[in-house]
Amino acid sequence: MSVYDVAVVGLGAMGSAALFHLARRGKRVIGIEQFTPGHDRGSSHGESRAIRLGYSEHPSYVPLVRSAFENWRELERLTGETVLTTTGILEAGAPESRMLQGSLDACILHGLDYELLDAAEIMRRFPAFRMPAGHSAIWQPEGGFLKPELANALHLKLAREASAEILAGSRVEAIESSPDAVKLALPGRAIEAASVVVSVGAWITDLVPELKPQLFIKRQVLCWYEPKQPELFGLGKLPVFAIDDGEDIVYGFPDFAGTGFKCASHYGSGVIAHADAARQDAGPADEARTRAFLERYLPQAAGPLKGMKTCMYTMTPDEDFVIDLAPSDPRIVVASPCSGHGFKFASVVGEVLADLATGGTTSHDIGRFRIGRFSDAGGID
Ligand SMILES: Cc1cc2nc3c(=O)[nH]c(=O)nc-3n(C[C@H](O)[C@H](O)[C@H](O)COP(=O)(O)OP(=O)(O)OC[C@H]3O[C@@H](n4cnc5c(N)ncnc54)[C@H](O)[C@@H]3O)c2cc1C
Repeated sequence: MSVYDVAVVGLGAMGSAALFHLARRGKRVIGIEQFTPGHDRGSSHGESRAIRLGYSEHPSYVPLVRSAFENWRELERLTGETVLTTTGILEAGAPESRMLQGSLDACILHGLDYELLDAAEIMRRFPAFRMPAGHSAIWQPEGGFLKPELANALHLKLAREASAEILAGSRVEAIESSPDAVKLALPGRAIEAASVVVSVGAWITDLVPELKPQLFIKRQVLCWYEPKQPELFGLGKLPVFAIDDGEDIVYGFPDFAGTGFKCASHYGSGVIAHADAARQDAGPADEARTRAFLERYLPQAAGPLKGMKTCMYTMTPDEDFVIDLAPSDPRIVVASPCSGHGFKFASVVGEVLADLATGGTTSHDIGRFRIGRFSDAGGID
């Protein structure tokens, strides 16, 4: 007989949301985290995450991101806190940019609110930008940013209030299937549950080794700058943005917290062999690319560097997520590799994971995230 209905392993973005949804349904749940929740060694720290509706990666994400918006607003209603700030989102680049074309396709297919802006209009509306002639942008008024540390903490707070147990500072070393329960091995302890959500982010291949041939971890560096003209970079002056120059995509956020203007390269600074190897070790070489980009596109941003943080993307070959039941045991739900664009979905992925862990299925369309899609490439099925 299982002690818990569901055990959630990993309490980052996906795990804390799942724990909340399970606890509010009255399930006996435990959430297990190897570090202290809110730590800066995974993928969910760094002050802000972009959220956008016109989804350039594929239009089929749009219904899911709509549900995510609703769930973020519900989290705000339940807690009285602001986790989602609407700034609009500006995606800019040369006419051949795949990001621009993808966003446009999604906006048209789903009837979303958008405008096409030429370089002069971009600079008129947002004087922080210097856009080369010929560049253009898609402006989506519904985009903005989320506060990841706050959102995760609120999910955990609500989960705790709904009687979820939280075990922090304990690493799950193995997951074992037995006829009666799924067993988790921890240092000096074992936990049994009827089902398990594995939301361990970049550590996923430790517990689901079948995914190892498919996944890789990218080291990402976030940079904060003290702009030369700070008045161009505050809330209301600068939207969340991404610029695709053909070689990289650099994205940034208004300075909403007085911490400086934050931006980062989406393509990152290399691959790391294991999540344990990630360190807060960003140095001068890490910001060279971002600074060169700013000098070209947002010259008034390129003032003194105020700080840097490293973070990890867990990449799949097609850059879509993996959210599915494990082929080896349908009581194990896998939800981790989010290819660097998963945070905005956490509020709805938590609901999906609760559905899968308790009923094996969900009404949300997650067909794109099947684990078995890798089987054609010789991976798991
Ligand atoms: C720099 C950067 C910028 C990003 N920008 C955006 C953005 O603008 N918009 C967007 O939507 N997404 C963005 N993302 C992606 C998004 O942040 C991630 O997809 C998301 O945060 C991943 O959440 P997660 O829960 O899967 O992983 P995590 O938040 O890392 O959580 C996994 C947790 O599992 C724990 N864990 C691991 N192994 C074990 C174990 N064996 N036992 C117990 N606990 C364990 C870890 O300690 C960790 O706390 C960005 C990511 C990065 C790094």
